[in-house]
Amino acid sequence: MQKIALITGSNKGIGLEVARQLGQRGIKALLGVRDTTKGETAANALRAQSIEAEVIALDTASEASVAAAVAETASRHERLDILVNNAGVHLEFSQGLMAPSQLTLDILKATYETNVFGPFLTIRHFLPLLRKSEAGRIVNVSSTMGSLADQSNRESAYYGLTTLAYNSSKTALNAITVQFAKELAATGIKVNSACPGWVKTDMGSDAAPRTVEQGAQVIVRLATLPADGPTGGFFDENGVVPW
Ligand code: NAP
Repeated sequence: MQKIALITGSNKGIGLEVARQLGQRGIKALLGVRDTTKGETAANALRAQSIEAEVIALDTASEASVAAAVAETASRHERLDILVNNAGVHLEFSQGLMAPSQLTLDILKATYETNVFGPFLTIRHFLPLLRKSEAGRIVNVSSTMGSLADQSNRESAYYGLTTLAYNSSKTALNAITVQFAKELAATGIKVNSACPGWVKTDMGSDAAPRTVEQGAQVIVRLATLPADGPTGGFFDENGVVPW
């Protein structure tokens, strides 16, 4: 039976590449996008590579939009096998780096809307469809910048990046991974966090050393874990990332 995957924020960047790599494995990719025109362009590019792709309107920062996306998905498919919570923002990068004391509540709230509340809402609303899968997989696209161990490590390349909103949003996302993994442990649905590394995208900038192809790999691996694979963990391409 063909597997079905929904990837949020997949009109570009790492999300689109995850859709492409899952599609190459014969999985149908549902592109969850907030701009369906951009989504159709991305889906057409995938179809040109013989990948089955559909577009689902989905703004993860809006519960009404998430609920509508579930209804639309359920009208087309009887289940969902893979959910990749990829949509994310780094407003401190896009609006200029600021120290924690300069961060505004507006930026903190806007970051959490997409990076924390979005994945929470998306998991919560899509769970009934995921429970119909024989091997549900949820991957939360996190960042080593959300690791408290890494944020405290003077040797880390990211030590000087004091972007409180983004870093703490990914820390919170990791806690969401742990909490849902525990609740779903008996169901066979696996929930893990992935760090793609520093990747060349609109968010990562041209200065990043890694390609989207490289960044997407760990996410795809966790999205296609076998039955004896881990749940409730945090991984990058080298293995376990400390919390
Ligand atoms: P990107 O190129 O900026 O793409 C972000 C995607 O998320 C876009 O498709 C964007 O849609 C979508 N998005 C943002 N807010 C959304 C919302 N509320 N609802 C639906 N879609 C939304 O960034 P990226 O580098 O591919 O990042 C993907 C994920 O990887 C993020 O979670 C990011 O935190 C994580 N990550 C990235 C890096 C890196 O170096 N790039 C490193 C570690 C982790 P629009 O086109 O409509 O804006």
